[in-house]
Amino acid sequence: MRITVIGTGYVGLVVGTGLAENGHTVACVDKDAHKIERLKKAILPTYEPGLEELVTRNLEEERLAFTSDLDKAIGDCLLVFICVGTPPTTDGDADTSEVFAAAEAIGRAMRGYRVIVNKSTCPVGTTERIRDTIAGLTAHEFDVVANPEFLKEGAAVDDFMRPDRIVIGSEDVRVVEIMKELYAPFLRTGKPFFTMSFRSAEMTKYAVNTMIAARISMINELANVCQAYEADITEVREGLASDSRIGAAYLFPGLGFGGSCLPKDVVACARLGRKAGIECDMLEATTRVNERQRERFAKVVLDYYGDAIAQKRIALWGASFKPRTDDIRGAPALHIIDALLAAGAKVIAYDSKAGPRLSEVYGDAITVAPKMYASIEGADGLVVATEWNEFRRPDYDRMAEHMRERVIFDGRNLYTPRVLAEHGFRYFSIGRASA
Ligand code: NAD
Repeated sequence: MRITVIGTGYVGLVVGTGLAENGHTVACVDKDAHKIERLKKAILPTYEPGLEELVTRNLEEERLAFTSDLDKAIGDCLLVFICVGTPPTTDGDADTSEVFAAAEAIGRAMRGYRVIVNKSTCPVGTTERIRDTIAGLTAHEFDVVANPEFLKEGAAVDDFMRPDRIVIGSEDVRVVEIMKELYAPFLRTGKPFFTMSFRSAEMTKYAVNTMIAARISMINELANVCQAYEADITEVREGLASDSRIGAAYLFPGLGFGGSCLPKDVVACARLGRKAGIECDMLEATTRVNERQRERFAKVVLDYYGDAIAQKRIALWGASFKPRTDDIRGAPALHIIDALLAAGAKVIAYDSKAGPRLSEVYGDAITVAPKMYASIEGADGLVVATEWNEFRRPDYDRMAEHMRERVIFDGRNLYTPRVLAEHGFRYFSIGRASA
């Protein structure tokens, strides 16, 4: 099929490339001309494992093209995917202005029958509004589909190629057949293809993200109770996660969820509920617990040093909101850095992929170290904010040699308190006794 993908961000680039990898002819469009020029040379705007190789291969095979010419791309395809951003407004609603700008552009550029597939996460009812917007701008026949995307940054290529399920919001038989044909190669392992109403499909995306977020907030709150009563959340988690009614996913205590999706989707879903007169206490508490978790952790660091913090040099390992991505949008690390800077500390951060993004945000206010051990040279403490693999079992003796004061604040519970104590470290983690 000939496909156009609007938006080449974390989602659109993976969707477009994944479809090209399956043989389709795909044009990826972005309004950011600089990004498009770089993508034509296979220079990616973001880090996502495995993606660069796929982009390069599909560019070479001429199945994948990048363009700023939306009119031409829409004029020449059957399917149009909308993958633009839906960031939060100041009130916390999803800002769908980019989605409607894309819908208007599609309506004006259509030259024949098109299927418009919305992958951007939008409030319930948006697909109908997209349909009405396009209908006001074209006399050509078209259909719209709500097709929420569930990929995770850091594993996006694999998630897109081997999804747990495909959700299609459309009750039109012809459209469902087109979507089934499109996704059949991705569902060869027998994963389900669900069709439902526009609104149920839109709500499914919010349901998934809010459920994941609630689990994270719940385990973090349980961890804090554990700590208050000298129970160990690592042990409790084992007993909890082995329960077949509960399962192990998203039950690691830490600094809470970040990124560009969970935080905004939980708030947007609560706003949807409230507007309909529904009390959304669980959703609102999920956000409150999440914000409190990082504040609580920053306070542990600041309390440890007291007034002396202004003279301290604090290293920070990991800035991205999770490992295997360079995305720092909504990352807990930023909150910790802000708290340290506000208290007058000097911050030396290290993140193998997100380092350049940190420099863009903080400029000279922090130092971004090029290497992991260089970041702790002369440090008075180390904060671990993201669980990249390289931080899991570092050389403790080497760390001890480099650091001026041996103290670690572990926001991801990577280390064993006893082992760190044996190496002479003070050690603070989440939901466990300090060592
Ligand atoms: P992003 O901000 O990384 O990328 C959006 C891209 O769209 C940008 O490159 C922007 O320049 C482009 N764009 C905006 N308006 C345009 C227009 N009119 N024409 C052409 N290009 C345009 O966003 P993202 O993280 O890829 O997320 C996209 C959507 O997918 C959001 O609704 C998000 O909630 C949802 N989503 C994101 C993820 C994720 O992990 N990031 C996962 C699932 C769903």
